[in-house]
Amino acid sequence: MSPVRDEDREFFARELNAFVPPRVFDAHIHLYRVADFRGAVPTLAAAGPPVAGWAAYEAAMEELTPGRQYRALAFPFPAAGVDLAAANAFVASQPLCHGQMLVTPEMDPEFVRESVRRHGFVGLKCYHVFSRREPTWDSTIEEYMPDRLVRVAHEEGLTITLHLVKERALADPVNQESLRRLARRYPDARWILAHAARGFNVHHTIAGIESLRGLSNVWCDTSAVTECGAFEAIVRTLGVERLLYGSDFPVSHIRGRCVAIGDSFLWLTEENTQFNAAHAPLRPVLVGLESLRALKQACWNLDLPDSAVERIFHGNAAQLFGEDAA
Ligand SMILES: [Zn+2]
Repeated sequence: MSPVRDEDREFFARELNAFVPPRVFDAHIHLYRVADFRGAVPTLAAAGPPVAGWAAYEAAMEELTPGRQYRALAFPFPAAGVDLAAANAFVASQPLCHGQMLVTPEMDPEFVRESVRRHGFVGLKCYHVFSRREPTWDSTIEEYMPDRLVRVAHEEGLTITLHLVKERALADPVNQESLRRLARRYPDARWILAHAARGFNVHHTIAGIESLRGLSNVWCDTSAVTECGAFEAIVRTLGVERLLYGSDFPVSHIRGRCVAIGDSFLWLTEENTQFNAAHAPLRPVLVGLESLRALKQACWNLDLPDSAVERIFHGNAAQLFGEDAA
C-alpha cells in the first residue's frame, strides 16, 4: 500500500469532499494476515501491514476519505496457497463488518454450510485462482463457483461476491449464460459482481449488462474501477438500487489507475509506468480516489439526486444485509 501523499489530500479536498457522504457501507474489502499466506505472499499484501484487520482498514480509509464513518462487507485476500481456515476465521473475528467465507470449488457443501453458520458469515467469496483450468483467467464461473456451493448460498440466503474472468468478462456469452442460469435456478443466492462486473474495460460491462436485465438477485460493486461508463450502464439497466460502493481495500491504496486499452485493460502503477510528461509534472493519486472520482462523474452524468448517491454509498448495502438503511 502506498502511503497517502499531499496530492491525494488535495485531490480529495478538491474533487471528492463534497461528494462522499458521511456514512459509508463499503461492500468490498479484504482483511488478512500476511502470516496466513502459505505460498508466495501477494505483492500488495507484502507491501502493507502484516495484520490488515478492521483497525488497519479504518485507519487507511481515514487517510483516504477523512471524517467518514465506515461499515463493510469483508472477505479474505484470495491467493493460491492461503490457509483458508485461518484466513476465514480472521475475517469472522473482526468487528464492524459482515464477513464472507472464501471458498474453493473442491469444498464440501456441508462443510461450507457448517462454517457459515458457526462463524456467522453473510456470504461466500469465490475466486478464479482456485479453478483447475489453466490459465485460471479463462475459467467459467462454474469452474470456481460450482452449483453445489451456489445451492448452499441459496438455501442459507447468502450473498456471493464474484470477480468474473475470461477476456471479455460480462461481454462473454458463456459468462452471461452461466449468470442467468445460476441466478434463476438459485433465486435466494444474491450475487455481487465485483468491479462493476469486472468492468476494468468499461466497454465489456456496457456491452453485456443487458443480459442481466430482469434478474432480481444481482448487484454490482464499484471497487477499483477508475472509469465511469460501467457504473452508468449498471444504473441505467439494473437500477440505482443495484450499485454498491466498494473500495477494494487494500487495492484502494495502490497508486495509479486502470485504463481500457483496445479490447482489454491495463493497470498503470509506479512500478510499471514512468509518469513523465512534457506539459506538466504527473502526480498519480491512489486507486481509491480515482474510483471515487469516476463514480462521481457517473452520478453527475446520470443526474442522480443526493438520495440516490446515498443509496450507492450506504442504503443499498445496508438493505442487502438487513441493516437499517435510513
Ligand atoms: Zn478485491
